[in-house]
Amino acid sequence: MTAALSAAQTLREHSDLRPRIALFERNDRVGKKLLTTGNGRCNLTNRNVAPNKYHGTYAEFCLPILTRYSTDKILTFFEDLGVLTVELEEGKLYPRTLQASSVLDALRYSLTENTIQLISDTRIQSVRRNGTLFALQSDTHDSFVARSVIVSCGGAAAPSSGSDGSGYCLLTDFSHTLIPPLPSIVQVKADTSVCKPLSGQKITGTATLYVNKQPKRKEEGEILFTDYGLSGPAILQLSGLIARGIQAKEGDFEIGINLMPEYDLQSCIDLILTRTARFAERPLEDLFTGVLGKRISTTLIKRNVELPLKACASSLTYRDIRGLASAILDFRIQVQGTLGFAQAQVTAGGICTEEFDPTSLESQIVPGLFACGEVLDIDGDCGGYNLHWAWASGLTAGNAAAAYGFGAGL
Ligand SMILES: Cc1cc2nc3c(=O)[nH]c(=O)nc-3n(C[C@H](O)[C@H](O)[C@H](O)COP(=O)(O)OP(=O)(O)OC[C@H]3O[C@@H](n4cnc5c(N)ncnc54)[C@H](O)[C@@H]3O)c2cc1C
Repeated sequence: MTAALSAAQTLREHSDLRPRIALFERNDRVGKKLLTTGNGRCNLTNRNVAPNKYHGTYAEFCLPILTRYSTDKILTFFEDLGVLTVELEEGKLYPRTLQASSVLDALRYSLTENTIQLISDTRIQSVRRNGTLFALQSDTHDSFVARSVIVSCGGAAAPSSGSDGSGYCLLTDFSHTLIPPLPSIVQVKADTSVCKPLSGQKITGTATLYVNKQPKRKEEGEILFTDYGLSGPAILQLSGLIARGIQAKEGDFEIGINLMPEYDLQSCIDLILTRTARFAERPLEDLFTGVLGKRISTTLIKRNVELPLKACASSLTYRDIRGLASAILDFRIQVQGTLGFAQAQVTAGGICTEEFDPTSLESQIVPGLFACGEVLDIDGDCGGYNLHWAWASGLTAGNAAAAYGFGAGL
């Protein structure tokens, strides 16, 4: 949608011809996925957009586009469409309405106002070069001719929304390389013997990913224990690294959860010492009442202390207390992998960016062919970065494809 809109604007600025832009959508309506973003609120960008929020085989590829389309530029783009925004936690920006539907409505109005032809219920199955033109073949047996083509079919995540990975062939048919797609921003499968009994417990803390016992990345926020492992924003943020590392057989993966990040080891030991003195007669299982959830504290005690849960708190040795404090600050859980594309918000991997011009998103294999959004091997962190990439790369590709189509020059 942003690609079509920027193509229309470029054509208006550089040509007297009426824009003839068509947007193909396999669903009965455009923007099905958009409606589900940010829990229906659409976290459309972030105040902290920067290259280090993006990943991919050649992640630096996104730099020129992020420089050209900063957060402010994207906010202005939406303001021009009539969408006012509001900043919530961690720089996350949403439509003021906190309704994804209002973002989609504004985009759709603008498509109509710019006389962009929306051809829905039409899946493009192939794109072929035909002399100086492209021939597009659809599953409805219709064919279309275009001077330039932008492939914006998304990745493989959340296939029920229409992007199921089948669109990669539109580019691999032209010999573009597919970096194997993996689920990202997705729940993590972890030791069920630990996680299942804690299922439903939610904590706010930090999660550190360890690969072969070495810390790789730390995230802060909510962490949720589930039947299959772990979820919550801090975990989702680590999931791309886990998916990539496990695929590359990097070794042993663990997550260390800090249940009380406001404490260091000594102050945590002191806290437990104070409590064992004050609540000396309480059974161990109640030692952390008011500090940690009951099921979490029971698990910690069972894993780290060789005493029955009914034993008096005063029976803990200093060694036990130190062990408990360490476990509270680093509750280690073995990681097995991630859930699949059906649960994932984003695709890591995709069409290799090295084969595209980073300023125009034009294919370096086929002139006049462009790509943008999640179909490319760029994925962002959780927090509005993926939609920012979708808008920014769409605006870039639309502008360049229109310029290519009419030789207007950028
Ligand atoms: C549940 C969920 C929540 C999310 N929340 C956020 C969030 O709050 N903030 C954020 O930044 N990101 C979020 N994301 C990620 C973000 O939605 C995607 O990164 C972004 O939508 C990608 O945009 P895109 O245009 O490249 O692809 P898509 O949004 O997937 O759009 C591609 C479109 O192409 C259509 N299509 C595919 N193949 C064909 C074909 N062959 N012919 C015709 N049409 C085709 C599809 O039906 C689809 O409508 C979320 C994702 C999910 C699943």
